[in-house]
Amino acid sequence: MRAFEYARASTASDAVRLIAGDPQAKFLAGGTNLVDLMRERIEAPATLIDVTGLSREIEARDDGALVVGAGVKNTELAAHSAVRERFPVLVRAVVAGASGQIRNMATVGGNLMQRTRCYYFYDDAARCNKRMPGSGCDAIDGFNRIHAILGASPTCIATHPSDMCVALAALDASVHVEGPKGGRTIKLVDFHCLPADRPNLETDLAREELITAVALPPLPFATCSTYRKVRDRASYAFALVSVAAALDLTGGQIRDVRLALGEVAHKPWRALEAEKALRGTPATKESFRNAAEAELRHASGLKHNAFKIELAKRVIVHTLRELSQGAQG
Ligand code: SF4
Repeated sequence: MRAFEYARASTASDAVRLIAGDPQAKFLAGGTNLVDLMRERIEAPATLIDVTGLSREIEARDDGALVVGAGVKNTELAAHSAVRERFPVLVRAVVAGASGQIRNMATVGGNLMQRTRCYYFYDDAARCNKRMPGSGCDAIDGFNRIHAILGASPTCIATHPSDMCVALAALDASVHVEGPKGGRTIKLVDFHCLPADRPNLETDLAREELITAVALPPLPFATCSTYRKVRDRASYAFALVSVAAALDLTGGQIRDVRLALGEVAHKPWRALEAEKALRGTPATKESFRNAAEAELRHASGLKHNAFKIELAKRVIVHTLRELSQGAQG
């Protein structure tokens, strides 16, 4: 690991001022991904600006909305009574991630910023356009079992590894950031980028901008929501495919729905095609399968990950069936 300087920010504006003055600095939150990347020499910041003491509150508003400070630990988020009551999908997604020890360290802001788990990205002997633009991509003809089936490009087929962000995408979350020019808000679904021809760019965030909070608008039917993660082993593993869903049912008909997929693309994948196909239809296995087919219509697989297309369809159907059966007693 390269030697680095350490500074602790006392406020968000102090953090922004510190990073603006040091082009090789990075923010340090829980460090559960960044420190690994530094050990592997994938990241080598000259200075770490510690923001772990900032934005530690969860505000549960009377209208049903929630504002979660970026410095809130994953464990605190999953244990908060208003989160558990209003957004069970978010609790399930957070608890499905990593291990208890990691969730005690990892923060909400850091979760948004975590980088892909593509094996070749972590191997500095491999060609990787994300790590070294223009060098090539060894995953495309390599072992690509965990890679993208939606929104990939000829330059990168990596996926975003977060569980939490999949739930946030389904819940129409927004990300509040602060930078040298002031604050702004970015919709979660626009926060992460598809790779196109610049896979080294992963988010809409400027280097000097700090995530300060994530806001969830009121969504009363999110009390009927869940997260399902399919992975190679039962714990401490990244997903092959995951689904976050919330259902609003009236008399067996789907009045409204929110659906997002994880580990299928370079970003959490909001399943708008499936949502459109589901609204106004009966809550049956056939409707769920039709919606899954609509969403995965443009999916494409490679040698080792093509199985994820059918897997994603089945996980969508299973998750929606589970939710609808629970809602109808
Ligand atoms: Fe790098 Fe993306 Fe290719 Fe993985 S898939 S090796 S992250 S360019």
